Amino acid sequence: MTKNFVGLCFGVLCFALTACGSSTDSKKANTPDTTTKAAANVAQATPTGGADTSTTPAPALGGKVPPPSVILGKKEVPILCYHQIRDWKPTDSRTAKDYIMPIADFKAQMKMLHDSGYHTVLPDQLYAYLTTGAPLPSRPVMLTFDDNDEDHYTVAWPELKKYNFKAVFFVMTVTLGRLPHYMSKDQIKELYTAGNVIGSHTWDHHSVKKYQGKDWEIQIDKPTKQLEAITGTPIRYFAYPFGLWNRQAFPELRKRGFIAAFGLADHRDDTDPLMCIRRIIVAGGWSLKTFNTAINRDFK
Ligand SMILES: [Zn+2]
Repeated sequence: MTKNFVGLCFGVLCFALTACGSSTDSKKANTPDTTTKAAANVAQATPTGGADTSTTPAPALGGKVPPPSVILGKKEVPILCYHQIRDWKPTDSRTAKDYIMPIADFKAQMKMLHDSGYHTVLPDQLYAYLTTGAPLPSRPVMLTFDDNDEDHYTVAWPELKKYNFKAVFFVMTVTLGRLPHYMSKDQIKELYTAGNVIGSHTWDHHSVKKYQGKDWEIQIDKPTKQLEAITGTPIRYFAYPFGLWNRQAFPELRKRGFIAAFGLADHRDDTDPLMCIRRIIVAGGWSLKTFNTAINRDFK
């Protein structure tokens, strides 16, 4: 039982994180609190939010999507990406530590989000917001966890529950059955049943930019079917390994039923921004101040 897959992930993800850190955008320090009304389905996740009785239109699966300029013109929702949530070991390399969030730090981050009035949102809410203008709760944030590490279930999920937070778990299915380092099918099912979202993250973390021939079937079709069998529901959201995408991937994902896909801190594509929604990696070692600054600064 090894963590080779994550090791691989770390190595190349480092590239993406570096790209993120080198960003020189003059991003405005904007606090995403412009909407104060929560729609009915938001109230379920945020019972203390001021819900009204309207309903958020169901995401138009395969339906009409507004022009890219409309989506790109909307205020971005901060989306955070986590990998392992555990304390550092002496053997962890400096690069690896970027992808390993010490438990106390993670707890402090969740508490800070809660105490600051943030509400977690899920991809259907984000999709409805971007495509129909459906309202979001005040201070929306999305929490995402990549690669199926077991500590997502054993460490992160109990913290999320404390604050009635929900999250998205992007699973690479090569890890299924690789206990105890990775979540089991039962654990994934439990997260889904509790109101979280399960997304696809390929079979073994190969970049979509390199797919040829049967790769789409191996990396996308079969893994997605596996996740659908676990959850009993269609899987509509995808996260690119290493955050790497190209335009050729968009139609391939769409024809497989995905309605949105998540990258990392790279720019969004101006022809299909739903297929390259931005996230930032919360790096292990960040102070709470850095965490707070990143959430406010890195999303326009
Ligand atoms: Zn990954």
